[in-house]
Amino acid sequence: MKKHSFLYAFLSRNSLLSLSVTLALSACGGSEGDTSPESPSASPEPTTQPTVTPSPEPTTTPPTASPSPEPSVTATPTPTASPELDSVAPVITLVGDAAIQHEFGLAFVDPGATAVDDVDGSVPVTSDADSVVIVDNIGNYTITYRAEDSAGNESTLTRSVEVIDPGPAASQDWDGLEVPAESGNTEFSWQLIDELSDSFNYETPWGSSKGEAFNERWEDGYINTWPGFGNTTWTPDNSRVFDGSLQLKATSKDAAQNTNYFSAIHARQSISYPAFIETRVKVMNSVMANAVWMLSDNSAEEIDIVEAYGSSWSESSVSSREWYAKRMHLSHHTFDRDATPITDYQPKDAGSWHVHTDNIYWRDGFHRVGVYWRDPFHLEYYVDGVLVRTVTGPEMIDPNEHLDGNGLSRPETILFSGAAQGWQVNGGVWPTVNELSIEADNIFEIDWIRSYQRVDLAP
Ligand code: CA
Repeated sequence: MKKHSFLYAFLSRNSLLSLSVTLALSACGGSEGDTSPESPSASPEPTTQPTVTPSPEPTTTPPTASPSPEPSVTATPTPTASPELDSVAPVITLVGDAAIQHEFGLAFVDPGATAVDDVDGSVPVTSDADSVVIVDNIGNYTITYRAEDSAGNESTLTRSVEVIDPGPAASQDWDGLEVPAESGNTEFSWQLIDELSDSFNYETPWGSSKGEAFNERWEDGYINTWPGFGNTTWTPDNSRVFDGSLQLKATSKDAAQNTNYFSAIHARQSISYPAFIETRVKVMNSVMANAVWMLSDNSAEEIDIVEAYGSSWSESSVSSREWYAKRMHLSHHTFDRDATPITDYQPKDAGSWHVHTDNIYWRDGFHRVGVYWRDPFHLEYYVDGVLVRTVTGPEMIDPNEHLDGNGLSRPETILFSGAAQGWQVNGGVWPTVNELSIEADNIFEIDWIRSYQRVDLAP
């Protein structure tokens, strides 16, 4: 009895399978050649199948076989009564793989497909309008290719494209570069903060539509609605990611007022000590400031990573800027914003203006500048991987107690920006229309930035 019911289950399941296959075929517009006796109206319930008995040929007893020659299956395009009937659709062949993984943010070029028809030979292949791969949106996409012969036989073929984020495990521009801070210290290790690290190896247009690869980590504008320093106004139109770098560009705004446009960008996430932040940049050949820096939410605590003024000459003040062109300002600020006027402290020692050992102009190439924010009263600056400055203790960090004795303790937000700063403008220094007209001198390039949290290792 048990055996019997097993056989029953097996048979009914089998016949159901063959039924559903036939149904699926006819739903596809199976052609007139369909001689299968199964009625399309075969009831789907397996228990009502008449072929319960183990009769050898279940398909020969169609109890409800309708005599009418399936009138609903005439979807086949046989437009004219041409003597020989072409019912064979073209065969589509994909160029490349049927399943493609594509890296997020990079332009996608569809490798396409070809089609050959038995009567027409090579026929064109089109892809559906909705077969679109959105490269800055992680997910799965389907491209549907379509080919049709002159008799109207159509075939389709699909390709799947998965847009993937290679994530922090993928290669980055800083691969192979050790974190120079706490080098060799076995008490600590460094954990990359992916949300605050970027090789900028994707592309965005100028303007506010910078796409997901950018928007994941960064946002156009200052940390609040502040429009710009000095005579500079920030706009998303003056930044893009291009040629492997984040680019911020200076252009003229109002020639009569000597105002200009630049860009400010900030991170979506803040960072807290102990941390190491390093960026590789090429500063502009301009009197304007190039800056990669960090600011607390209350704007009282500021750590500057890069602050540099690349030009050797100021047209507006008709004076040499040689001194600045050879210095990288490695500084921080503490502000008392309750005071009137606001008081601003920054160290003024000679070491805060760093000169390269080869006395080079910083504008002439890319350089790495990093800050190790060890604790509220200790900062270390690394240029091209070498420790060049240490600022430590309350007397150096915040001698006037603008921060109520707490030092640089609040989370800070990373910013990329620049400006013709107020102190420069007050001294008659700003980029002239003529200077701004040379685009190559007015693009601040950030090749990458990487941020690490220091992690204590178990003893
Ligand atoms: Ca890069």
